[in-house]
Amino acid sequence: MAGVDFVDVRKSFGAFPVIKGVDIEIEDGEFVILVGPSGCGKSTLLRMLAGLENITAGEIRIGDRVVNTLPPKERDIAMVFQNYALYPHMTVAANMAFSLMLAGSQKSEIDSRVARAADILGLSKLLDRYPRQLSGGQRQRVAMGRAIVRDPQVFLFDEPLSNLDAKLRVAMRSEIKELHQRLKTTTVYVTHDQIEAMTMADKIVVMHDGIVEQIGAPLDLYDNPANLFVAGFIGSPAMTMISGRLDPEDAHAFVTADGTRLPVARPAAAARGKDLVYGLRPEYIALDAAGLAAEVVVIEPTGYETQLVVKLGGAEVTCVFRERVTVRPGETIRIAIDANHVHLFDAETGVRLV
Ligand code: ATP
Repeated sequence: MAGVDFVDVRKSFGAFPVIKGVDIEIEDGEFVILVGPSGCGKSTLLRMLAGLENITAGEIRIGDRVVNTLPPKERDIAMVFQNYALYPHMTVAANMAFSLMLAGSQKSEIDSRVARAADILGLSKLLDRYPRQLSGGQRQRVAMGRAIVRDPQVFLFDEPLSNLDAKLRVAMRSEIKELHQRLKTTTVYVTHDQIEAMTMADKIVVMHDGIVEQIGAPLDLYDNPANLFVAGFIGSPAMTMISGRLDPEDAHAFVTADGTRLPVARPAAAARGKDLVYGLRPEYIALDAAGLAAEVVVIEPTGYETQLVVKLGGAEVTCVFRERVTVRPGETIRIAIDANHVHLFDAETGVRLV
């Protein structure tokens, strides 16, 4: 096993830069997820680590080896693709054994590695089946089995769950996480799904437009987003953003364009006199008879909780209440904001000030 380092890595396709200087340190045994919207460059970064794409500048290291000059097969990695890339005319066992056969391993060694991977993944009874005779989740497990038998230094996953239905995706999330806890192999995983990133990663790398916006543990990114992009990308339902400024006379009041006053517990000196964005997570709003009046726009009960969209301060604010709320669109509710959990962002730079 080994860690992975990206050092000022850059990539251009022709004159078009898609990776604009990326530094990421991945510890030995860590599960790191690269996440970001479509086109941000996360797959390109993974493909450069795998050796499927050249880098334009910088350095990629696995352990203490510089690998960006090595061909893929010398990098000691195994990649699981979105479409699984199974060989349709080969059984499950043969699919898993294939790379070891190519590498010239002994038959006894191959058999024992395939048996062990099949045992770990619950595939032992399916070894004689062909891919067409498997469910989507089972195919996904075979694709992982092919990676496990090679016992690589690093596992790479490129959107491995995107072809599965919602329920299976949730189940496979736990399976992959458990697998990592068991094998402790350094893992780099790409997804555009921030929930996948939040639930599975030790460390998340949020990418946007070819740069790294922030790196951190899932809850650290959730609680302390560096900027508006990360704040808006991490969290579902998303953080509500409201434009306005601090009251020059009272820094504990945020005043929106329509004159609504919202509470601020910790006003930063840097926030005074600036155009700001007030960031509010849905769970830090409570029903409160003495609170602010807000008109209900949408109500979405899930049974477990009630999600409401209300109008406040000229914005549509998303709230999540653990209790059941029986109101209709157009009615007014009263809400209180937990000011200790409010964020303020510089509207111009996007940087979080509070
Ligand atoms: P997605 O989630 O849609 O796969 P991504 O974040 O993985 O997106 P990449 O596939 O890494 O994004 O692509 C990053 C950028 O590089 C995009 O603008 C894409 O159009 C461009 N790009 C990727 N591959 C090539 C290529 N072979 N030639 C030219 N441009 C490319």
